[in-house]
Amino acid sequence: MDLGKLKELVNNFAKERDWDQFHSVKNLSMALSVESSELLEIFQWMSEADSNNLSSQPEKMQKVEEEVADIFVYLLRIASKTNINLEEAVIRKMEKNAKKYPVELARGNSKKYNEF
Ligand SMILES: [Mg+2]
Repeated sequence: MDLGKLKELVNNFAKERDWDQFHSVKNLSMALSVESSELLEIFQWMSEADSNNLSSQPEKMQKVEEEVADIFVYLLRIASKTNINLEEAVIRKMEKNAKKYPVELARGNSKKYNEF
């Protein structure tokens, strides 16, 4: 995945429409939350089994793909506005998570790190 290219695509889209004026970090964070809720809405009332079997529900799968893309678009915009390097941030956070959730304690366990 070329994050730089995707960031450029998304930033140009906003720039061409003069939407930068609306894209404060606060507004983008709110928009990200709204898109996350749209993803949740697809799964609302759906059984666990159906949620794990989207390949047999092409219409739902299409909607999930679109909402996941919307979420990622806003994430890219937030990263651009805050100069966060997403690749480095994810690597750093996963290193932190690995310390919080050591394999010997977390394997097959859904407890939160402070409940070990
Ligand atoms: Mg959406």
